[in-house]
Amino acid sequence: MRNENQPLIFELSREGRIGYSLPELDVPEIETKELLPSGFVRQEAPELPEVSELDIMRHYTALSKRNHGVDSGFYPLGSCTMKYNPKVNEAVARYAGFAHIHPLQDESTVQGAMEMMYDLQEHLVEITGMDEVTLQPAAGAHGEWTGLMMIRAFHEANGDFNRTKVIVPDSAHGTNPASATVAGFETVTVKSNENGLVDLEDLKRVVDHQTAALMLTNPNTLGLFEEDILEMAAIIHDAGGKLYYDGANLNAVLAKARPGDMGFDVVHLNLHKTFTGPHGGGGPGSGPVGVKKDLIPYLPKPVLVKTEEGFTFDYNRPESIGRVKPYYGNFGINVRAYTYIRTMGPDGLKAVSENAVINANYMMRRLAEYFDLPYDRHCKHEFVISGKRQKKLGVRTLDIAKRLLDFGFHPPTIYFPINVEECMMIEPTETESKETLDSFIEAMIQIAKEAEEKPEIVQEAPHTTVISRLDETQAARKPVLRYQKKEAVEV
Ligand SMILES: *Cc1c(COP(=O)(O)O)cnc(C)c1O
Repeated sequence: MRNENQPLIFELSREGRIGYSLPELDVPEIETKELLPSGFVRQEAPELPEVSELDIMRHYTALSKRNHGVDSGFYPLGSCTMKYNPKVNEAVARYAGFAHIHPLQDESTVQGAMEMMYDLQEHLVEITGMDEVTLQPAAGAHGEWTGLMMIRAFHEANGDFNRTKVIVPDSAHGTNPASATVAGFETVTVKSNENGLVDLEDLKRVVDHQTAALMLTNPNTLGLFEEDILEMAAIIHDAGGKLYYDGANLNAVLAKARPGDMGFDVVHLNLHKTFTGPHGGGGPGSGPVGVKKDLIPYLPKPVLVKTEEGFTFDYNRPESIGRVKPYYGNFGINVRAYTYIRTMGPDGLKAVSENAVINANYMMRRLAEYFDLPYDRHCKHEFVISGKRQKKLGVRTLDIAKRLLDFGFHPPTIYFPINVEECMMIEPTETESKETLDSFIEAMIQIAKEAEEKPEIVQEAPHTTVISRLDETQAARKPVLRYQKKEAVEV
């Protein structure tokens, strides 16, 4: 029998082999050149693999088994919230009334879908403590950019054209400074203090009449709650700036604390993280943005409104920043998030944050004996440990991450946030059992022992995967993304 880990023969093509059968043509054949301008007509047939249906089935099934996903194993990738995606979400997303409609259909024929969107917006208003929500943005970073464009529109409407700076903590997710730059702002960094929180003195130093906004993640990327948030809000508001909340990871505070109550003016959520949209592999995502009253005029249009005759899209929004996504956002992901919120209910969402936090604290305490803990305080939904102790033994954090693959675990996020040396950022999530948490902890303890006793095992890991270490630069710079005919290539 073929072992799953044996190299896969990639080139399966055999001349003349086919994997389909079509009925005889029963309409007159039309020459392609009668339908298309000659420049668009292919002169030669494309070189496609010639395979049977069984060949192609086995090929993709083999590839799928080599992928690690939440449905196949533990995935504690910090800041990414790789939690279980309930299958009831999929069933609802496949309802014909959701899956088989078209965005250009007349509004009167899709009132149910529009009601779902409206209801989801209302739930997110409640969850975030904001006044209105747009579902248009397709991802977290897209939500950040949308929010910042609204902040810019607000300042400009007030004749305030000099607010060119956005303040971002040094522990922020990389998308924050990137979004600020793409939105045309200059980024100013504010430092973290020895507790891993924003340094208030440094914040006072960098804030001025040019401050458009402060972007903050709370709990921050170290998994720590920014306790001085009300004071920070006052500092920014007194200077005339706005507060932006990066709510990509709302797991820790869901149904417990609301960005709106902390003084934030804008927030984005990642429905593909906290609200169980399947992600990984690049999408599709959904990054709704909530705003307080004075930013409502700038929301992307059209805005979904409820009237006496039913739901309708309002295009008459002269101050809107415009459309940020074709049609109305990633509808299918929004259906899944809506299903999740409705099946969990308020008490269920509260249990999410409680269990996410207790799982992370349990794991952090048990690992603290074997790895350095740079911030020794209660964490929220995730925590950061450092491989500094192991580095002295010649074992880098990258090696630890690779060794985890041999135990069947996806590694945590590594070398991020950048303000912690040899960083590992672990987010267990609330959907894992104690047995799973324990087996991961045992694997980490074994790796810590191996680093002391036989470091080469860790340095040369992984030992059980099809390929060992990838050339990550080549993989990013020169990816081979489509079929290229070759003689039996082994991968
Ligand atoms: C994931 C994440 C983002 C970016 O979200 P995308 O959907 O990947 O664009 C932004 N901020 C934080 C804190 C995140 O964890």
